[in-house]
Amino acid sequence: MPAPLPAPLPAATWPAHSLPSYLNPAALGSWGDYLQQVDRVIPYLGPLSRWAETLKRPKRILVVDVPIHRDDGRVAHFEGYRVQHNVSRGPGKGGVRFHQEVTLPEVMALAGWMSIKTAAVNLPFGGAKGGVRVDPRTVSTAELERITRRYTSELGLLLGPHKDIPAPDLNTNEQVMAWMMDTYSMNVGVTTTGVVTGKPVDLGGSLGRREATGRGVFTVAVEAARHLGLPIEGARVAVQGFGNVGSVSAKLLAQAGARVVAVQDQDTTLYREAGLDLPALLQHAATNGDIAGYAGAEPISQEAFWDVESDILIPAAMEQQITEARAGRIHTRLVVEGANGPTTPAADDLLAERDILVVPDVIANAGGVTVSYFEWVQDFSSFFWSEDEINQRLVRLMREAFATVWAVAQERQVSLRTATFIVACQRILHTRQLRGLYP
Ligand code: NAD
Repeated sequence: MPAPLPAPLPAATWPAHSLPSYLNPAALGSWGDYLQQVDRVIPYLGPLSRWAETLKRPKRILVVDVPIHRDDGRVAHFEGYRVQHNVSRGPGKGGVRFHQEVTLPEVMALAGWMSIKTAAVNLPFGGAKGGVRVDPRTVSTAELERITRRYTSELGLLLGPHKDIPAPDLNTNEQVMAWMMDTYSMNVGVTTTGVVTGKPVDLGGSLGRREATGRGVFTVAVEAARHLGLPIEGARVAVQGFGNVGSVSAKLLAQAGARVVAVQDQDTTLYREAGLDLPALLQHAATNGDIAGYAGAEPISQEAFWDVESDILIPAAMEQQITEARAGRIHTRLVVEGANGPTTPAADDLLAERDILVVPDVIANAGGVTVSYFEWVQDFSSFFWSEDEINQRLVRLMREAFATVWAVAQERQVSLRTATFIVACQRILHTRQLRGLYP
C-alpha cells in the first residue's frame, strides 16, 4: 500500500506575470499570451495551483550559434534555440521552426503550448520547441542542410528519443527531419530513428503523419460544427496559410462538401465566392511553390482576407494573426486554430462576446503530435501500422479529447481554451505533485 499523499498546502498567490530574469517584459510577444492563458486557468486548479509556477517557467533553454560555410565560401552565423518547457509527463516533444523572425520568447510560448497540447490529448510527452532564425528562401538547399546539421549537433546535449524529440513546423519538412535524424545518429554512432518524428516513411516515418495535423483540424471542426448545428455541406470556409496544415484542412473540408471561399499565404490572398477548386489549387501550389498566379480565383489584398464572410475560419499560418482589431471585423461562426497561438487573449474575449466559437490550437492542431506519438511507438517496436489504422486511431483520439474539453467547458461555463487548459494543467501538475521535487 503506498503511503497516502500529504494534505495539500493552501494555494499560493501567484504574481500576475512571473518572468525569468533574462526576459525583457516589453518584448514578450506570444509568451505574454501564453502567460495570460495560464493565469486564467489557475483559479480552476484548486490545491494543484501551488505547482502552477512550473507552467510559467521553461525547464531548460539552450541558445546556440549555428555557423556555416555559405556556397560562396563566406562564413555566416545563425541563431538557434531549443526550449524544453515541461518534461513531467515524458520526453520533450515539439517542432523546429525555420523563420527569419523567430525569437526566444516565441519559441518559449510554442514550447509551453506543446506541454498543454500533449497533456490535453493525454500523450506521454512533455512540451518542447525549437527554432533557427533564418529565412529559408534566402539559402540554398545545401546551405539549409548545413544549418540543420550544425543546429542538430549543437542541440546534442538535449536531444534523444527518451529526452526530446523534434518534428516539423513552419518551413521544416520530412527532408529536414531526415537530416536531423542522420546527424544525431552519426554523433551517437547508432541509427536512432525515434529521435525525430515527421520523417520520410522510408526512414521510419509513419504513414498518415504528413496529413495528420490537417486531419485533426478537420475532425474537430466537424465536431464543433455539429454542436453549433452548422452543416459542413455548403459551409463557407476561409483558410489562412496554405502549407502543411492549411492545405490539408482545406482539402478535407472541401471533400466533405464545404465551400473554401478564401485562401491566404504569405504573399497572396485568393477569393472565390462559389468555392475554390482545391485539387487544382493544390496542383498549382505543388508546381509553383505557392498560390501566387493561380488563375481560378480573384486575388484580393492581404488585409481584405479578414473581411471575407465565412462560416468556418481556419488560421493556419502564424501567431497573433487574430488581433483585437481583426476580431471585431471577422464574420464567421467558428474559428478552428490550425496555427499555434493565432488569437491574442483580447481577441479571444471579443470573439466570445460576439458569440463566435473558438476551438483552440492546443486541441485543434494536436493531430500532428498524436501521429508523431504513433510514429515514435512504431519506431521503438519496428512494427508499422497501416494508414487506415493510423487515421482511425487519430480520429478516435481527437474526438475523445474534444468531447472531454467540451464537457468541461459546459460544466464550468468557460471557453474551450480555458477548458482545455484546465484538463491539461491538471494532468501536468498532478504528475508534478506525484513526482515531487528533487532533491
Ligand atoms: P508551413 O511552412 O507548411 O506553411 C505555412 C503557411 O503559412 C505557408 O503557406 C505560408 O506562406 C503561410 N504564411 C506564413 N506567414 C504568413 C502570414 N504572415 N500571413 C499569411 N500566411 C502566412 O507550416 P505548417 O507546418 O503548415 O504550420 C502552420 C502553423 O501550424 C504554424 O503555426 C505551426 O506551428 C502550426 N502547426 C503545425 C503542425 C505541423 O504538423 N506541421 C502541427 C501543429 C501546429
